[in-house]
Order: sequence, then structure tokens, then C-alpha cells
Amino acid sequence: MNSEERLVAARLWAAYNYPYLASALFALSFVSDDNVGGVAGDEHFRLYVDHDETSSWDVDLLGAEMVHQVGHLLRGHAARAREIGVREPELLHWVDATDAEINDDLIEGHPIPDEAATAEGLGLPNSLFGEEYFLKGTRRLDNSRDCGSSAHGNPRPWDQPFEENTSRGIGAEERDLIRRRVASETVAHHRNYGSTPDSWLRWANGLLEPRVDWRAELGATLRRGIAEITGAVDYSYQRPSRRWSYASKVILPSLRSRLPEISLVLDTSASMSEELLGQALAEIDGLMCAAGIRFNLLRVFTCDSVAGTPQRVRRSSDLNLIGGGGTDLGQGINAAVQTRPIPDLLLIMTDGWTPWPESVPNGVRAVAVLINDDPPVTPDWLERVEIREVGPTVRAV
Ligand SMILES: [Zn+2]
Repeated sequence: MNSEERLVAARLWAAYNYPYLASALFALSFVSDDNVGGVAGDEHFRLYVDHDETSSWDVDLLGAEMVHQVGHLLRGHAARAREIGVREPELLHWVDATDAEINDDLIEGHPIPDEAATAEGLGLPNSLFGEEYFLKGTRRLDNSRDCGSSAHGNPRPWDQPFEENTSRGIGAEERDLIRRRVASETVAHHRNYGSTPDSWLRWANGLLEPRVDWRAELGATLRRGIAEITGAVDYSYQRPSRRWSYASKVILPSLRSRLPEISLVLDTSASMSEELLGQALAEIDGLMCAAGIRFNLLRVFTCDSVAGTPQRVRRSSDLNLIGGGGTDLGQGINAAVQTRPIPDLLLIMTDGWTPWPESVPNGVRAVAVLINDDPPVTPDWLERVEIREVGPTVRAV
């Protein structure tokens, strides 16, 4: 086998044995370099291979090295080194620490990459994070293994300059996509075969779980809005003050709270997940109910490029969602704030891809409920809550 064929065979070995990592393994590109002294990676999924040095390695050792490098890349070891400020003199200890984090995921019987540290070698148990091995692990005096900038982020002499949109190497955006894909595939693999190493599963679940629980956030935003309105001092003339009888002919306003007027503008042109939309509406339904406000007090304006007539329904599931075509939520927002009584709180459910009014219409408090994986920025006058798919958490068994 020539060196090219060996790389192809090693990658196939890796993808066969670690199928949940395949998307990352096949994103690797290879660069020959005689100064590496083995194999090293950079943050752009490029693997620098010293063919003279590695020509005597078995294919499975070369494959294990690829799995190892993918471990550094997927787990973001370079970014994590920057976060805790690892300096050049400590780099090799950081490499040992992150090596220990990933080496216990290698399937038993597979070769450990050349001279790579293990948890045991650092005097600590398996399954810790690199940061813990770094802080508490024994320092190896004879370590010379440098996995490359993929592991620590400090440029190495062999690192080639990276340019976006070239065939060699990938940028940050694609790197995030690959991470998410591998995380999903890891969870799916575990569900189907139950044989994914614990720490890969822990990593995948950590990545797929939403950063915030949207239910809690939506609840807090809505409750805050309602509390501020119902708690607001309202000199209402609707119920005369008791002092009226003592006063002359002037009717004094009474101090009382009232039910808030809430309107909902629903973007029917958006490509929103129906399931998430249903969940978010049901959540609003439940929150209003808990606050003593019936859902049929809510005025709902469906809107694509024009606003529909307001609907009042008993339950969120009774809404008639008509629409399609272009989006201009400004139309729906205008219709909502011009309807009397003026709403105290305006909820706008959308994927976010719409032109917005420049300022808060009629001074109404407005919350954008964004149903989209990666919603665009919204104007400052809008509060925002992002509704995301809640990834299933699969625990190691
Ligand atoms: Zn390493």
C-alpha cells in the first residue's frame, strides 16, 4: 500500500469501528508533512501526516490516531484551552490531559495512539474532563506528544494558513454543523445498538440539550408581563369609588387591577415546526389559565403578508391557521395595536424572518416567540424567547 492507500484504509477502519463518528472522520483532509514526527491536527479538520514516521504503523494504529484527532476536534479542546488560558509551557500537559479524556473511549483491544497519556498514567480515574486531568493529573516528565493545534489552539510550524471556501479544511460554521450531526448520530447509535462509550454519549447529550429551557423562559416572560399589568395602578372609571357618595357630583376613579388585554400575532407564512408551534401555543394556553385568564380573551391575528381578522377561540387547538406566501408581520402588528382596546401585551409567534416596525407600535409591550433553530436578530424594542426542539436525553446504560 502506498501512503494514500494507507490513509484511506485507516479511515475506513475508523469509520467501521466508530460509525457514529463517521461524519467527522470523512470531513478530515490530509496534508503530508515530514516535520510532524507522526500525526497532528489543526482546528480546520486537517491532519498533517509524516509518512516516513508512520509508514511502519499498522492500519489500525493510524485509524485509532484519526479517531483520537476527531476526539480533540469534536470536543473543542483548542477552544477549551483558550478559555482556561493554557500557556505554551503547559501545552504538553494540556495535551496529556485531553488525551486522557478521549483515550478511555477507544474500544478495548484497539491500539492507543503512540505515547498518548491515559487517565491511569496521570494517576486519576477514567471519565473525567480534560480540565480536571490538567489541574489534578500527575505531570509526565518524559512527554513529548503534541497532537497539534487541534488539541490546544497554539499554531504549530506545519499548520497551513486557512482560507474560507477553499477545498482544504473547514471553517467554524461547518465545524459546528459536523459537531451537531455527530452528536445526533451518537444518540441514534446508542438507541439502536446501545454500544456507544459513556463519555461520547455524555458529550452528545450536552451538545444537543438546549441551552435554556424555553418553557421556563416563556413562562417567566409571560408571567412578568401579566404581573406588571395586573399589578399596575389603574384609575378605572368603570366602578365608581366608594367615596363617591361623600363627594359632590364628581365621579372619582377607583383603584383596581384588571385583566390584561393580550393579543397574539401568528406568522402563518413562516416555516415553523408545527409540533413546536403547537407546544408553544399549548404552553401559552396553560400559563394564561394559571394566571386566571381564559384563552378566549386572547385576540389572535394570523398574518402572512396581510393580517387576518382577529380570532377568539376557547382553546389554542381551535385556531384556524390560514396563510402562506410572503411575510410582513408589520401588518399583523399594526392590526393588533389598532384594535380597541389596545393590547397591554403583544405576543408575536414567528420564525423571525420578517421585516419589523422600527419602533414599538403604540408603545405596546411586545414579546417575540421565535420558533426556529437559529432565529435572526430582532429589534431592541422586542423581548424575545427562543423555542427550540428539546433533544432527547439518552442516558448511558
Ligand atoms: Zn491527542
